[in-house]
Amino acid sequence: MMNKKQTIAAVQTMMEEFPDAKSELNADSNFHFLLAVILSAQATDKSVNKVTPALFERYIDPASLAQAESSEVEDYIKNIGLYKNKARYLIACAQKLVTDFSGVVPQTLSELTSLPGVGRKTADVVLGDCFGVPSIAVDTHVTRITKRLRIVGPKDTPRKIEDILMKKLPQSMWIRAHHTMIFWGRYRCTARKPRCATCPLLKQCREGQMRVKS
Ligand code: SF4
Repeated sequence: MMNKKQTIAAVQTMMEEFPDAKSELNADSNFHFLLAVILSAQATDKSVNKVTPALFERYIDPASLAQAESSEVEDYIKNIGLYKNKARYLIACAQKLVTDFSGVVPQTLSELTSLPGVGRKTADVVLGDCFGVPSIAVDTHVTRITKRLRIVGPKDTPRKIEDILMKKLPQSMWIRAHHTMIFWGRYRCTARKPRCATCPLLKQCREGQMRVKS
């Protein structure tokens, strides 16, 4: 497995390739960003960005969404996977924001994860992007690339991967490392066709070396 020094160096190499990595979800407020992150579960950011302008215009704040009917919200998001469940979550989330948090998106992991539809990954993304709270959200890209690069073990869960990354990377790198690893997974080390032959991490990556040989 990669040690601390090797992990930092690998993430720095990724940062050199993607110096501007950041969230690709569009939103104009913390509330709307939270909605976009909930919608992005098992959906691409592009597909979420297509539906959110109309959704955000209709529901400008938690109070307006809290009063919506599921069928009405479904109409706005029906091109996204799991839209029926997501519509219910969005409304329930807005209702809890109104009743428990005076309509304001909270800034702690425990409060965020108390909201319907908000798991640890969503909460970590919101903490980092809305409030600058150091966090590392582990999604499918982060899971895949940390396993390929042997930063973590092959069977490690997202929760374990988060813990390992927090130990191996300095806190000051967490938010940027999260975005950078997602870009790395989306545009370099993709699930089906990673671009190993030209990868600057090929020397450190046994998985890449095996792929290049075969
Ligand atoms: Fe991913 Fe291939 Fe680079 Fe390894 S060498 S990090 S598998 S793109």
